Amino acid sequence: MRGGPIVASPVASVSLDMDNLWSYMKIHGDPEWSSRPSYLDALTPRMLELFGAHGLTATVFVVGADAVRDDGARAVGAIADAGHEVANHSFEHEPWLHRYERGRLEEELERTEAAVQAAGAPRPVGFRGPGYSLSPDLVGLLAERGYSYDASTLPTWIGPLARAYYFRSASLTPAQRSERGALFGSASEGLRPVHPYRWKVDGGGDLLELPVTTMPLLRVPMHASYLLQLHQSSPRLARAYFDAALRACRLRGVGPSLLLHPLDLLDARDAPRLGFFPGMALAATEKVGVVARALGAMQRHFTVVGTGEHARQLLCRGVARHRPAGRAGPRAG
Ligand SMILES: [Zn+2]
Repeated sequence: MRGGPIVASPVASVSLDMDNLWSYMKIHGDPEWSSRPSYLDALTPRMLELFGAHGLTATVFVVGADAVRDDGARAVGAIADAGHEVANHSFEHEPWLHRYERGRLEEELERTEAAVQAAGAPRPVGFRGPGYSLSPDLVGLLAERGYSYDASTLPTWIGPLARAYYFRSASLTPAQRSERGALFGSASEGLRPVHPYRWKVDGGGDLLELPVTTMPLLRVPMHASYLLQLHQSSPRLARAYFDAALRACRLRGVGPSLLLHPLDLLDARDAPRLGFFPGMALAATEKVGVVARALGAMQRHFTVVGTGEHARQLLCRGVARHRPAGRAGPRAG
């Protein structure tokens, strides 16, 4: 056996936001969302197989309105049984959650916590807002309720572009357009930090913020859906881009937190009403291959865990910088 110090790789994380078919239909203005159609029975085994093949313990952010249904509760149970973290992704998954008043926010957290626990997983300690929505009240409530981290921010300037694309493709009434007016944030989201930090909470205490990682300096997304869009134009470009983003993270000392979505693993046959989404023409097997390659590339450079474990290790190491709760950007209102 050879001597010498063992140098551990820096820590990175993988999480999946388990947005369901109905929630995409609702945001898109499809009235049939209200029957809450679901693809969770197709998604769950595929997702668990992908994580299992990589020996990866990840985090799944779950929507409460799904966890109270049979298929959602089955999914939560299977995710927890496989050893993954189940975290809170709100109850109704409305991306304008940052406009809710405190009582309604509390209800969103509480109902999801109860549903997740009833389905057999531990009480969530992590939160991600739908559509990256966050407010000072929400940060305060998370700290009060014993959460150890929030993972809602996406520090990128491309929000207005994403919103323009969304408004072009969605069929919405003027009232729905107004409700969704701040969707995906403004370009100033790009001024938020890529490095983790702590929100300072009014009345004392703090909460760790673990941003969804964007390419350091350029602030362009590097999550799997973005990668799949690039892959559709050029697989070689997508691979080169992701490898360059990982190198940039290493150079800037950022342990990337990679975000996955169900549509990264599903195709038009699994979600027939979502053909308008970018990347839906690709076969699921091809998509899973692209995501698997990205996970493998991450694992070559980093020790990859779930966001909860990533947060725990950051807190052990000490994250020094403080920011006033939720007031760094346009979502503060
Ligand atoms: Zn979501």
